[in-house]
Amino acid sequence: SVITRFAPSPTGMLHIGGARTALFNYLYAKRHNGKFLLRIEDTDRERSTDEATAAILEGMEWLGLTADEKPLMQFSRAGRHTEVALDMVSRGTAFRCYATQEELQARRELGEEKRQAAKAEGISEDEKSTLLAEANDLLGPYRSPWRDGAPAPSEDAPYTIRLRAPDGGDRIVDDGVQGTVRIQASELDDMILLRADGTPTYMLAVVVDDHDMGVTHVIRGDDHLRNTFRQIPIYEAMGWDIPKYAHVPLIHGPDGAKLSKRHGALSTLAYREMGYLPEAMKAYLLRLGWSHGDQEIFTDDEAAALFDISGINKAPARLDLEKLGQINSHFMRQADDERLFGLLKPSLEAEKPLTEAETARIRAALPEMKDRGTTLPELAEAFAFLKDIRPIELNKKARKALKGEGLDRLAGLRDELQQLPQWSAETISSAIGSYCTAQDLSMGQVGPPLRAALTGGLPAPDIAPVLEWLGRDEAMGRIDDQIA
Ligand code: GLU
Repeated sequence: SVITRFAPSPTGMLHIGGARTALFNYLYAKRHNGKFLLRIEDTDRERSTDEATAAILEGMEWLGLTADEKPLMQFSRAGRHTEVALDMVSRGTAFRCYATQEELQARRELGEEKRQAAKAEGISEDEKSTLLAEANDLLGPYRSPWRDGAPAPSEDAPYTIRLRAPDGGDRIVDDGVQGTVRIQASELDDMILLRADGTPTYMLAVVVDDHDMGVTHVIRGDDHLRNTFRQIPIYEAMGWDIPKYAHVPLIHGPDGAKLSKRHGALSTLAYREMGYLPEAMKAYLLRLGWSHGDQEIFTDDEAAALFDISGINKAPARLDLEKLGQINSHFMRQADDERLFGLLKPSLEAEKPLTEAETARIRAALPEMKDRGTTLPELAEAFAFLKDIRPIELNKKARKALKGEGLDRLAGLRDELQQLPQWSAETISSAIGSYCTAQDLSMGQVGPPLRAALTGGLPAPDIAPVLEWLGRDEAMGRIDDQIA
């Protein structure tokens, strides 16, 4: 059965690219009734922090990307990684290499010298190509003189453990996104598995952990494609099943350049702070690099039923914040009233707590006002006219509407409204209608002063529901404020 994983390094926030990788792995597991696992790759002790781990977990929790088991901490498995390296030595697929740092350094320097020498004037083409070949050998992938079992220089000589890199021919990765990718075996070095101080390398740890976790599919950023060629020989050396790979192109900015801060926020949680709903962020990240026909918006269930690796695009996706806004606005409209009110509350209360009356008015208006913004703070802003704003400050347009005739009409309308036995958008609307008819006025003559008195010029939807949401007392009060 399918097992996928997300394997972030806890060195910073949960990047939106990482969140997308996690989402793809999560969905692939759901689609195949498999498991989605989380591994925190904290082997870089200098750069890994608990805060970063916490931030990554918080970001995943926000998006509802729940792992099926508790996270595996990579560093805690160093003993196991070492054990595998030693196992490979006994199998002859890895070996002890006694080259010292100084020797390796000297080798590089010699290579540089030869490369420089090849540029010298007055040397023959023959000499030149010999020098270049030697330089390339010295500067290219390292093949250790101990790979074929040469004896140790001394009994207590320090050593690293290196993988015996595959010898000749082509190396192929059949990638679910990139297709068949090929390099030459000679491009691979005898890479270090255990350092001289006995600590395992990252490349070893990834493979051992993926194997031990039973990972069948590795979906990750295509910045890891090269690593795959270095990781597969470890599976081969241990006789383990190689997972299927899918390397996803990274996210780019709207201008096509590599994504950076100037394109917008990179941290997943920053989008929560900006007022996007998690399901919108998820649907957006899903479409960022994956498609299913021309469908734009997916619910969780749809995504889990449809996600496939073949739908991942080969070209890098571009960040498109306008699209995110549209998707968010869709999900805000879909959101349950109670939940949406809760989500809006921090923005509604940014300046001060809502009074009971304000809460009642906003709740009454909410079902019909969900479409008035692309983020939570923007939507919250649309409720400003329902807050306790008396005495209302009139903007220029509102002041104009309430002059002379406008004010007379408002007064006439007020008497009509006051007599209403029932206060609802419907009864209010017909009262306004009959006032217009009786006075031979158009809605365009009556609406503006009324709206001005009620909102002072703040944006608001249709006037009859506005009166209903305000409630009789508040609405009449606002009207009276102008007439008095
Ligand atoms: N820890 C690696 C990263 O954060 C991911 C390694 C992997 O997915 O194999 O880039």
